[in-house]
Amino acid sequence: MSLQDAPVPEVRINDVLIQVLKTSICGTDVHIWGWDAWARKTIPVPMIIGHEFVGVVEQVGDNVHDFSPGDLVSGEGHLVCERCRNCLAGRRHLCAHTSGVGINRPGAFAEFLCIPVTNVWAADPKIPLEVLSSFDPLGNATHTALSFDILGEDVLITGAGPIGIMATAIARHAGACRIVVTDVNPYRLELARKMGATIALDIRTGKLADVQEELGMQEGFDVGLEMSGSEHAFRDMLANMCHGAKIALLGILPKSEIDWDHVIFNGLTIKGIYGREMYETWYKMTMMIQSGLDISPVITHRFHYTDFKEAFDVIRSGKCGKVVLDWSER
Ligand code: NAD
Ligand code: ZN
Repeated sequence: MSLQDAPVPEVRINDVLIQVLKTSICGTDVHIWGWDAWARKTIPVPMIIGHEFVGVVEQVGDNVHDFSPGDLVSGEGHLVCERCRNCLAGRRHLCAHTSGVGINRPGAFAEFLCIPVTNVWAADPKIPLEVLSSFDPLGNATHTALSFDILGEDVLITGAGPIGIMATAIARHAGACRIVVTDVNPYRLELARKMGATIALDIRTGKLADVQEELGMQEGFDVGLEMSGSEHAFRDMLANMCHGAKIALLGILPKSEIDWDHVIFNGLTIKGIYGREMYETWYKMTMMIQSGLDISPVITHRFHYTDFKEAFDVIRSGKCGKVVLDWSER
């Protein structure tokens, strides 16, 4: 990856041109940085990457009537087809033909980003810019954490990456009973504690069964949020859920063997999560932040965009939460 001069994107009639103020770096960007097998088969090059952003409207197309220059906005990085059965039914997060900002079309790690008005979210200027730049992953956390009723329930979150930590705060905000978070990274476990985890367990040295005993739990966790992408974490989760428990899978798991007995005989419900609901998730996360949900401790590092190499190095070290790039100072 390199920093290059690129033309300002062309604004078509349904588009909004956004001057980018801040962007956050997603795990997906790190896969692209590492140019792994997924990135090689998915990303056409050259490509301006990045999809987590906040910015100010610079210009709108002729068909755009509900945004004007100067508006503070974030945006949904999944473009949907608007024509498939799910899109027509208003279930746009289930569109079978999505394309991605910063993946299949030019993205937000630039001074200007152009997206269709359907994907622009009017941001509340009272919310800090860094938080707004993390609305995309906060949306993943919100979509996953609110997929099942968690009020008064014992919740297990595997993976204390930025999304797992945000989900911890959401589960706390939404009235979960005990929240146990697992990871293999002490720095991130500490963040999870700060964000409301009852117990943040280093799974290299501790066992979920022991934690259940310590907490006086009788029947297992009621709701599981898989946010590590680790098959070990998922297997461990399956073995520690109560009968009838609900599991939401966000982490991108490798192909692996599952003990289906846990699922079938314990009557588990498993739901896969992709992206955010358009735009119910965006509404919910805005309202939660307006009513006291504070995810700012998740944002641990800030860099000017010209220092993007250092920013990626910090992420790869694992000693970070969310890392934000600033584009407001040219
Ligand atoms: P991340 O990679 O920063 O965090 C994953 C965390 O899991 C890390 O802290 C890692 O140390 C931890 N981990 C590794 N092995 C573990 C184990 N055995 N038990 C417990 N924890 C373990 O990722 P993130 O940005 O927080 O995203 C979380 C997951 O969600 C990733 O897998 C990501 O690819 C996925 N994701 C999915 C979607 C979607 O739409 N489905 C969107 C965004 C991210
Ligand atoms: Zn569709």
